[in-house]
Amino acid sequence: MDDSVQRFLLEGASVRGEIVSLDHSWREIARRHALPEPVLKALGELTAAAVLLAATLKFEGALILQIHGDSAVSLIVVEARSDGRVRATVKLREGEPIPDTVSLSHLVNRRGRGRFAVTLDPAGRTDARQAWQGIVPFEGETVAEVLEHYMSRSEQLPTRLWLAANGDRASGLLLQRLPDEGGKIPASLTDPDGWNRMQHLADTLEPEELLSTAPSPLLERMFWQEAVSGFTPRSIHFGCGCSRDKVAAMLRMLGTDEVRDILEERSEIEVHCDYCNDGYRFDPVDCAGLFIEPPPQPGSSNRH
Ligand SMILES: [Zn+2]
Repeated sequence: MDDSVQRFLLEGASVRGEIVSLDHSWREIARRHALPEPVLKALGELTAAAVLLAATLKFEGALILQIHGDSAVSLIVVEARSDGRVRATVKLREGEPIPDTVSLSHLVNRRGRGRFAVTLDPAGRTDARQAWQGIVPFEGETVAEVLEHYMSRSEQLPTRLWLAANGDRASGLLLQRLPDEGGKIPASLTDPDGWNRMQHLADTLEPEELLSTAPSPLLERMFWQEAVSGFTPRSIHFGCGCSRDKVAAMLRMLGTDEVRDILEERSEIEVHCDYCNDGYRFDPVDCAGLFIEPPPQPGSSNRH
């Protein structure tokens, strides 16, 4: 199965949806983090959810879902970009045992201090186009419940999510009730109980079925009595935006004194990317090179 997210419309019910199936991209994320089973499952579900939510937005840039946990998991971050790239990272807290079967809430909110945040980071961010962030207390037991609470708090369209993940795949379904206004579809053709009925049909979906069935046959099976229009699937892939140049820019920001101090303690500086697990090494010669030539400043000039 390909890694994709696909929009569809249940016209008679005034409901739209997105369906995601992640295979290779999810395994790329999973293999870069050695995670206990329940954490892996939660990360997979959150990754599928991030792709679904990003797909509902008319937005160029990154949608970032973050959970700040107070228990065995201190941080989960998933980033889904409008160009189809996805990446994720997890930080575990040492000395907190993780039982084999445990809910997301138990992993991140045992002391009731978990927080959930959604960030929209526009491409080509400037002062005029800043990142937007919404933070809410952690509510719900599962990834789907937490997101549904978030959506209802932020007064989005009524939205439901069904998510599933294991070590090989991460999949999800999103249904969203369309607003009544607009009059695109004559009232006589819409079903006033459509939203409830579609949720009911999706509630019959077993996690195993969501993981093992490709999106098109799944939609056909679930909504076989409905008029379903499917749109062209968009492909999703693993991609981390880190690079040696970006690490070099970060070291320049630290400044020559700070870099010299680090080098006095260690023979080289190794910067590790939390998302892809790649390491970037700068030995003393590399570090000296960072400060010899200042990088060209776009739009500025040294001439007076
Ligand atoms: Zn990276």
